[in-house]
Amino acid sequence: MEGKVLIIGAGAAGSVVAKKCAMNREVFKEIHLASRTLSKCEAVQKDCATPIEISQVDADNVPELVALINKVKPDIVINMALPYQDLPIMDACLETGVHYMDTANYEPRDVAKFEYSWQWAYQDKFKEKGLMAVLGCGFDPGVTNIYCAYAQEKLFDEIHTIDIIDCNDGDHGKSFATNFNPEINIREVTQRGKYWKDGQWIEIDPLSINCMIDYPEVGPRKSYLIYHEEEESLVQNIKGLKQIRFWMTFSDNYIKHLDVLQSVGMTRIDPVVHNGVEIIPIEFLKTLLPAPSSLAEDYTGKTSIGCIIEGVKDGKTKRHIIYNVCDHAATNKEVGAQAVSYTTGVPAMTGAMMMIKGLWTGAGVFNVEQLPPVPFLEEVAKQGLPFTVRELTVEEQKELGSVDIHFIQSMLAAR
Ligand code: NDP
Repeated sequence: MEGKVLIIGAGAAGSVVAKKCAMNREVFKEIHLASRTLSKCEAVQKDCATPIEISQVDADNVPELVALINKVKPDIVINMALPYQDLPIMDACLETGVHYMDTANYEPRDVAKFEYSWQWAYQDKFKEKGLMAVLGCGFDPGVTNIYCAYAQEKLFDEIHTIDIIDCNDGDHGKSFATNFNPEINIREVTQRGKYWKDGQWIEIDPLSINCMIDYPEVGPRKSYLIYHEEEESLVQNIKGLKQIRFWMTFSDNYIKHLDVLQSVGMTRIDPVVHNGVEIIPIEFLKTLLPAPSSLAEDYTGKTSIGCIIEGVKDGKTKRHIIYNVCDHAATNKEVGAQAVSYTTGVPAMTGAMMMIKGLWTGAGVFNVEQLPPVPFLEEVAKQGLPFTVRELTVEEQKELGSVDIHFIQSMLAAR
């Protein structure tokens, strides 16, 4: 590969990808950023350390994408737009013979449901063309999957349980804002929760189960069990897995706002008629809320995200935590972005680097845990996201270890 990338989406995370690519010119020889709104590309272009090219594109429109790809002739398209654009961009990559990468799996606009089935269905098409599609190369999904792959390769003979733990302990000073695209964030959090145990998916009401988790460099924080897309692929790719759960912190203030917005219908994804015009309430809400890219300036605090993994090594039961801590103010200083955008954009840039350097190769559709973890983790650490691996003592993360979801569910049902 020649080191030519086309990044689509000049939002909060896409701008980090462009800026980090521009800081690594020995790998990225040509960088092109395209998005729906050209002025957003212009703003990013101005802030890049080295020159990049820009274009306007509607990524819902395959012929427009094909024309742009044929003009730019990249090796890889890095999709940093929204999950709705995954399939049109994959179609355009197939038509033009270009590799593909994204950070979030496809979801249809009219159903708040994300799953890999739609993108996994492209397996044969990418294989036949000798092309590589790498799915979910942000932080979670992304680095968390790669932590699991690393654990499988280096720390365990067999992995039994995984708890992915995600804490944003930052303060952006706004009464309510989401750290990535508001529409996608709210659709994710308000859907029913789900986790996997002993071969089956168990559904729970949204945000109905929580426990205290002790996050590295942050401390104990109330965390909610939600469904997250990496669980679907890790169930397929981690040998011997018996249970996987995903936990995320939400402040009481966030939950309070979300409750009110939901109860008055502002999070609805179906059209309603307002003054004779059809509007979709969640899209209107997105217009009102702060853009995630606007939060960076006064953001304080840290994200602390990782995996707690239990399994067997040399006949003994072991429990390890693998994690990264990232400081909002530090990422703002480096690239003018808050830590949630940074922890998404830096892995995407690193994944593209792996492909360009020939360290990640293959034909077909891949989730990142199927690719070599060590070169990625070494590089992503150099690029700003170091990781720590530590064995846990029996005293640590006791509440998480002992949370009995079946018991909680029966208590909730009996209410
Ligand atoms: P933003 O809303 O800030 O950015 C999205 C960008 O995509 C915007 O610039 C938007 O353009 C552009 N876009 C939307 N529709 C189109 C279109 N049809 N054609 C061209 N461009 C389009 O969101 P984020 O940067 O926060 O999130 C980007 C992606 O990253 C999302 O898919 C999100 O789910 C994912 N993500 C993944 C994470 C992970 O760890 N794996 C974590 C956080 C986010 P415009 O500016 O005109 O609206």
